[in-house]
Amino acid sequence: MKIGIIGAGQLGRMLALAGYPLGLRFEFLDPNPQACGGQLAPLTVAPFDDQRALAELAARVDLVSFEFENVPVAALQFLAARREVYPGPAVLSTAQDRLREKTCFNELGIPTPRFQAVDSREDLAAAVAAVGLPAVLKTRRLGYDGKGQAILRQAADLDEAWRRLGGQALILEAFVPFEREFSQVAVRGRSGELAFYPLAENRHRDGILHLSRACSPDHPLAALAADYTRRVLEHFDYVGVLAFEFFQVADGLVANEIAPRVHNSGHWTIEGAVCSQFENHLRAILGWPLGSTAPTGAAAMLNFIGELPPTAALLARPRVHFHAYGKSPAPGRKVGHATFWAPTPAELEAELARLDN
Ligand code: AMP
Repeated sequence: MKIGIIGAGQLGRMLALAGYPLGLRFEFLDPNPQACGGQLAPLTVAPFDDQRALAELAARVDLVSFEFENVPVAALQFLAARREVYPGPAVLSTAQDRLREKTCFNELGIPTPRFQAVDSREDLAAAVAAVGLPAVLKTRRLGYDGKGQAILRQAADLDEAWRRLGGQALILEAFVPFEREFSQVAVRGRSGELAFYPLAENRHRDGILHLSRACSPDHPLAALAADYTRRVLEHFDYVGVLAFEFFQVADGLVANEIAPRVHNSGHWTIEGAVCSQFENHLRAILGWPLGSTAPTGAAAMLNFIGELPPTAALLARPRVHFHAYGKSPAPGRKVGHATFWAPTPAELEAELARLDN
């Protein structure tokens, strides 16, 4: 079996790394000739909407998936007319638009921050009146890692935020004074079977994920997060791995966003769960039995942003698993991660305490 993956960043690369032991082969398509998946499998360098390149890729593979959230929906539809594509275009289209995404959550009974569409300066004033301050103004599309966002704390912030973001479709959301951020990584197979990883508690720095800790499977919010995630998976007849990001508030969880793909907050599963999110994504899209999402101990993942740390020092620590993505250093770029693993949560905390950050 050969799997075509749209996007060839580190997520695609780790999908391939998980798939080779299963006897799978891969091909990537990405406009960036340096995309790091290309170090592992053939890479077609082409724009995502290049129909000739898409058709040729589809003809060479058995199945298509994607690892990048901003693949044009039309490209996925074009592929879906030729090969099975998992997850399907519908969920991608919803996930690409924060307004449709939050509307969908509410329709499924999943709480979100109050929100309102903003398409003009007048809309912004009306949305602030409806949603209240503080609030977060975001682009509806193409935002990631906190890019395309402005926090509005007082009325005087509106002009500056509009100057920076105005002119594109926007959404205003109430600012959630959250206690913590969690994500639920889950997988749904072709015949509807479901499996949920333990929740991950996520800490961000400068809008980018910094540290993810896997929670205990019996965390008090686990059942609620799994219930909300199941609603989304079943609504879309979803196949593959999906991540759902939540804010913890006093009375439960408030939904932020979904990622219809393997997710950074699930990297700990490579060493910390019986079957990783990457292998489970492949199993799901192939219609194979899902692997166990049970943790093998306590695990946390630290991202390397911009550049890698000195490798030898990390490799010298017996409970650290080091991952470099084969990317050149650049500010804000995710270039690798480390998984910290220990048999017990207490030992993991002792290991993490040795980090100087
Ligand atoms: P996003 O791109 O929507 O995932 O937002 C990036 C980060 O900004 C989130 O992980 C939160 O830390 C913060 N953030 C986003 N939306 C809100 C909100 N409505 N209230 C408070 N913080 C937010």
